Amino acid sequence: MSASPVPVPTEVHVRPGPALLAGIAAGPGLAAHREQYGALPRIDVDTLLAALGRLRVRGRGGAAFPFEVKLRTAADRSRHGRRPVVVVNLSEGEPASAKDSALALMRPHLVLDGAVATAYALGARELHVVVPQDRPLVGTSIRAALAERRDPMRTEVHVAASRFVAGQARAVLELMAGRPNLPVTAWSPEAVAGHRGRPTLLSNAETWAQVGLLVLGGEERYAASGTPDEPGTTLLTLVTPSGSTPEVVEVGFGTPWADVLPPSWSGRALLVGGFHGAWVPWAAITGGRVSVDAMRAAGTPMGAGVVLAPGECPVTFTARVVDYLAAQSARRCGPCLNGLPALADAVHAVADGWPVAGDVGRIEALAATVTGRGACAHPDGTARLVRSMLAAFPAEVALHGGGRCTGARGLLSGVAS
Ligand code: SF4
Repeated sequence: MSASPVPVPTEVHVRPGPALLAGIAAGPGLAAHREQYGALPRIDVDTLLAALGRLRVRGRGGAAFPFEVKLRTAADRSRHGRRPVVVVNLSEGEPASAKDSALALMRPHLVLDGAVATAYALGARELHVVVPQDRPLVGTSIRAALAERRDPMRTEVHVAASRFVAGQARAVLELMAGRPNLPVTAWSPEAVAGHRGRPTLLSNAETWAQVGLLVLGGEERYAASGTPDEPGTTLLTLVTPSGSTPEVVEVGFGTPWADVLPPSWSGRALLVGGFHGAWVPWAAITGGRVSVDAMRAAGTPMGAGVVLAPGECPVTFTARVVDYLAAQSARRCGPCLNGLPALADAVHAVADGWPVAGDVGRIEALAATVTGRGACAHPDGTARLVRSMLAAFPAEVALHGGGRCTGARGLLSGVAS
């Protein structure tokens, strides 16, 4: 199986931040957490829904889905007699991402407070926490945090497989049900019918930490960072060449990217949104601001907040990522079983300069074929990455077709059109 071009981190650098990461020097213990924020208040579901809507709190797992909508759906379903379930997803299957791991290590009680407060509001009595097998310190930290608490609900910890798609929502529900930790076709949203058919509110650690901050600190504190249109902060994982330690930073929405990205990255090709993300030339990103809406409008969604500066040619790096992604699928749906391996071969043919097989048209055709046809978004994300490479670096792609490469140190600024 192809290895990830960016290894799963064994450690992470975390900078103090304005909200979630404020006061991290006091350590991750419950006493320090209560000293900083006080006791966890009880909040009713309608009050929570109203606050989430006013502050436009969105999920931080990649799709930026409005959390209020998800909670409202689960609340409506639970009013019809199905007791809801709350899930904290720390599986972080994307190897380049470290933000949820950072929260587990530095801010476990903020994450758990968000989930527990929401469980109280919903009337849920079951909390599930999913930790990654390949990041053992995350599980250790969360188990230690759970042992410090006295939440009156049944709590269960599950260990997710070391696989890119293991953290996908349906794959997590499969794990919780005792089946292989792989995505399956979803016939309805988890908030309608999730774990054992019950309404299930499943979110990643940062989303729960944002809810925790809102419940503990109030709306004014939450909105102290960000803009009127996008209040609050977001976590980013900044990743440099493979082998180096990733850095997790917290920034308010609206912050110029030029103030966030290391000056040493100047001129590099950047991959925004991780392995399912899109290439963005340095000059393009540093002219803009950290914004879910603006990045989505530009066709370069922030995803789970990974920004990668690989330090090698973006064409060859893309080929290595697609190899890895093709090997990570559950191999259950046609686009993954046949399409992604073929796409990986086609991208390699271009990157490696094979004059016959190295056909950009074949890449485009395969990317179109796999899109929108899987049971989960894995093929779509892979196709997005490949298309962005073609769009951002057409001249370099053409050079590769002729057996040449000018981006060996990752210093292509790109010519996105
Ligand atoms: S699209 Fe791929 S990863 Fe997703 S469920 Fe189907 S085979 Fe698995």
